[in-house]
Amino acid sequence: MKNCDDFDSDYLSAWETFAEVVPSEKHAVEIVYKILYRDKPLRCFYCRSIHHSRVFGSRSSKCMACSKKTWITSGTFFHKAKCLRSVLAAFWFLESRVYINPFRFHKLLDIGYAAAILIFKKISMAIYSQTDQSLFSIPSSEFREVICRRSIQTRALEHPVSEIQDSYDLLSSKPDQIEDTVIVDTLSEKEQKIYDVLSDQPQNVDLICFNTELPASVVSASLVMLELSGHAHLLPGGCYIRPPSSNQNIFEHGHSEHSLLEDSRTPKLLNFIEQRFRGVSRKYLQNYASLFWFYFDLSCWYPGRLLDVCKTFGKISGSQVSAFLSPYQIRAYLV
Ligand SMILES: [Zn+2]
Repeated sequence: MKNCDDFDSDYLSAWETFAEVVPSEKHAVEIVYKILYRDKPLRCFYCRSIHHSRVFGSRSSKCMACSKKTWITSGTFFHKAKCLRSVLAAFWFLESRVYINPFRFHKLLDIGYAAAILIFKKISMAIYSQTDQSLFSIPSSEFREVICRRSIQTRALEHPVSEIQDSYDLLSSKPDQIEDTVIVDTLSEKEQKIYDVLSDQPQNVDLICFNTELPASVVSASLVMLELSGHAHLLPGGCYIRPPSSNQNIFEHGHSEHSLLEDSRTPKLLNFIEQRFRGVSRKYLQNYASLFWFYFDLSCWYPGRLLDVCKTFGKISGSQVSAFLSPYQIRAYLV
């Protein structure tokens, strides 16, 4: 098991190896193309033909049947990524379990700082989509000491930790309707409509479309958001259920807030967040807990799984990233 302090040791040597394997953006495009279309061929967006021609390093492909262009990354996890090499580099560092902070990353890859942060946020959202009952639910209040950055959720003239109280108030204002209380404030009208038809009975996208009378494209996009915010749970086979309430999870693990405070394993997660990210906002707290899970749970995050998860996860837009709000109960792995 790696120690937190080992992460800085070798980011330059990991970078040198990466630069040999992926020397240019064109090489990155080729690798991404192979990743995306290894199992099923690229189909023309217009006529669905699989016959097309593409030059080395090109992000678009010309259909030989209708002559129209199809973007190879359209609708995928790599959708609209300006620099595919930087996305691959992020996977490379993560898979090598080498820690690199977003500032060094933006310098190395020569991309914007905001773009560097966005890549890691997208990946951590995909990691979060895989959370299950094996993880602990830890109240945001346990992270008080590392929450020192403002977000758009922070009230004017208040310290960032005020967000903890706000999210808790939201939870506790109507104890009988915990899930619904959160939703009123965070979900769009369509997401609410979909949430309302979800139950403990698995439903596929077609059935949800039928029950909500919404088009498939809206249902699919909304389900991603519902899943990310913990209001829908995707089962193997593509069916969705409404997840059990987060309070119930704590109970199942036999942990109260008090016992978690004294759990000797919690400080390692706090140290990770403090040392690696120099403090975070409550809004994105879950992202850092998700990265910790990835770094330390090697049996769950075996080599290659991250890429598969992101590939299956598909497109995440910038607006979905900024709309992300960590649940009050953070899902976390403890070592
Ligand atoms: Zn075509």
